[in-house]
Amino acid sequence: MLTRIDLRGSQLPGVRELAGLLPRAGTDVESVQAVVRPLLEDVRVRGAAAVREITARFDGVDAEDFAVPQAALDEALATCDPVLREALEEAVSRVRRVHADQRRTDVTTQVVPGGTVTERWVPVRRVGLYVPGGLAPLLSSVVMNVVPAQIAGVESIAVATPPQRDNGGLPDKGVLAACALLGVTEVYAVGGAQAIAVFGYGAGACEPVDLVTGPGNVYVTAAKRLLRGLIGIDSEAGPTEVAVLADDTADPVHVAADLISQAEHDPLAGAVLVTTSEALADAVLELVPGQVAATKHGDRIDTALAGSQSGIVLVDDLDAGLAVVDAYAAEHLEIQTRNPREIALRVRNAGAIFVGPWSPVSLGDYAAGSNHVLPTGGCARHSSGLSVQTFLRGVHLVEYDEAALADVARHVDVLAHAEDLPAHAAAVAVRQK
Ligand code: NAD
Repeated sequence: MLTRIDLRGSQLPGVRELAGLLPRAGTDVESVQAVVRPLLEDVRVRGAAAVREITARFDGVDAEDFAVPQAALDEALATCDPVLREALEEAVSRVRRVHADQRRTDVTTQVVPGGTVTERWVPVRRVGLYVPGGLAPLLSSVVMNVVPAQIAGVESIAVATPPQRDNGGLPDKGVLAACALLGVTEVYAVGGAQAIAVFGYGAGACEPVDLVTGPGNVYVTAAKRLLRGLIGIDSEAGPTEVAVLADDTADPVHVAADLISQAEHDPLAGAVLVTTSEALADAVLELVPGQVAATKHGDRIDTALAGSQSGIVLVDDLDAGLAVVDAYAAEHLEIQTRNPREIALRVRNAGAIFVGPWSPVSLGDYAAGSNHVLPTGGCARHSSGLSVQTFLRGVHLVEYDEAALADVARHVDVLAHAEDLPAHAAAVAVRQK
């Protein structure tokens, strides 16, 4: 059950010490790298044969080919429950609306007469999108990955997602239907670290990609970290975390439900309540066992809530609460306080912030329009969630005419000599009459 960390009554420690006191997963990305590294190497060296063996070992599926046939995608969409299809279409429409506003336009700055710099936004050519499917088939992650890539103008999109034993070794039908709905035709039935290796090195029919995005468990995240450089990655979107910053106005039933909802993702998921109210903490602690007992994945949730990555942190006031949530830098942060928007605007570090009682994290998981692929493990200090921007690169076009170059030449000369790089200076000097 959730442990309590009481930070009341004394001065709050500094950021570094505070980060050490807060809940964090014992199994982190670093600690599984020893398992993941040989899997990546095996796929690099042996390609599709290695993928087949690793998939048989971890997913219990032995298939000759891991490329999903177009007929399976078409059938999944044709047989998709109309109610599910309607929900998917609504989610797609909302995510599209938000992400369409993220389009970037090229900007030309006239630095001096005759000298301009244009920032051109160019989409990545080929991307590999990961859709989780170990503990739950995250068809919503198809939407969250594919929509921004399409809006950015990515030319070539491949999706990888684990095969399912109960679907004849193909991925989950809902995941396939979501791919087909969005017009994705290149889908691979491969999960985990091996999927990231397939994207990075290429294997079977899959050509290497330039960028990999998408959420995943600790093995997927470790593989992304290890292959970063060979490929680009979005952020480390690993096992889910939620932090709730709450005062005595929060409804304990809502808070308990929201902590449990994210713990449902993974035994390694983190759920943290930061509150000024001991009464709220007590009420949540009392409510959690009943709510967990009433839900389907109680074992997984119990493990996540009892883990070192989850807990209840008591603080003196909301200023201290804000310092704690900034130090934690949660993937998802809920603000359940008086004037929640005012408090939310004071947060520096969070992947996404859910403001007030009617914006639960689950809404953002599916149909708020926001993206649910978000940085975990403290990466929200430096990284953003998935967006159209993730799939674009800003390329500078530098255009100076002869007079504009002549005008700045003496400064280039001085700077080049200050760096002891005379050939740099000469490249400008030879152009001067
Ligand atoms: P997954 O698809 O990420 O991983 C399943 C794969 O892991 C399997 O195909 C298997 O090949 C591999 N695997 C399983 N056990 C292994 C082992 N012992 N060694 C090596 N590989 C192994 O699906 P999942 O496990 O359900 O995890 C989904 C994750 O995505 C959860 O942790 C969830 O919290 C997270 N998530 C994160 C975000 C985010 O934006 N941060 C969003 C949604 C979901």
